[in-house]
Amino acid sequence: MLTVRVPAWLAETNAYILAEESGGQAIVVDAPPDPDAIGAVLIQHDLTLSAVILTHGHIDHTGGSGELARATGASVYVHPDDDFLTLHPLEQLRAMFGMTPPGVYDVPEKFEAMSDGDRIRLAGLEFEVRHTPGHTPGHCCFYLEQEETLFSGDQLFAGSIGRTDLPGGSLAALMTSMDQKVMVLPDHTRVLPGHGPETTIGRERTGNPFLQ
Ligand SMILES: [Zn+2]
Ligand SMILES: [Zn+2]
Repeated sequence: MLTVRVPAWLAETNAYILAEESGGQAIVVDAPPDPDAIGAVLIQHDLTLSAVILTHGHIDHTGGSGELARATGASVYVHPDDDFLTLHPLEQLRAMFGMTPPGVYDVPEKFEAMSDGDRIRLAGLEFEVRHTPGHTPGHCCFYLEQEETLFSGDQLFAGSIGRTDLPGGSLAALMTSMDQKVMVLPDHTRVLPGHGPETTIGRERTGNPFLQ
């Protein structure tokens, strides 16, 4: 599988461009604002974007999804429990910064819903949706069984976990999600988080100070 990580915007949010091979269909996991760098990767590998799947509704993961969808016709998937965030990008920015930082913030008018246990088959890949509330109520991780890879969004990072002090956050819920949906995966599972470098379930099981 082709996997390209593109960290972008103020929060250095990771977008992942995934495809079976160059010249085929692609999926993007999370779409930070100003998605020009994502578009450049699609062009470089001659990829056709078929869908954008969003781990959660925070602006740093969603703000480029509208532009990508309009440019390519791709559908955009998100869990509806985050609609209070996803559908209000500018309100989120004002709450975060007290103003709107320069940039293009654009979400589609319509989203495809997803729910826990869904298997989304796109571009030759099968994503299992694992609803992991805690960082936000609608947060989801995506597990690619055939690649033994988890896209962990802002649930689990290398050496850290997602913050739970933002609207809708809950540390108790995050830890329950961790136990039931994340740490049940095998140690060798590759973890590609929403910020920072990749890790594995085993490395976090032994070394992450928040999981001890
Ligand atoms: Zn977030
Ligand atoms: Zn984030």
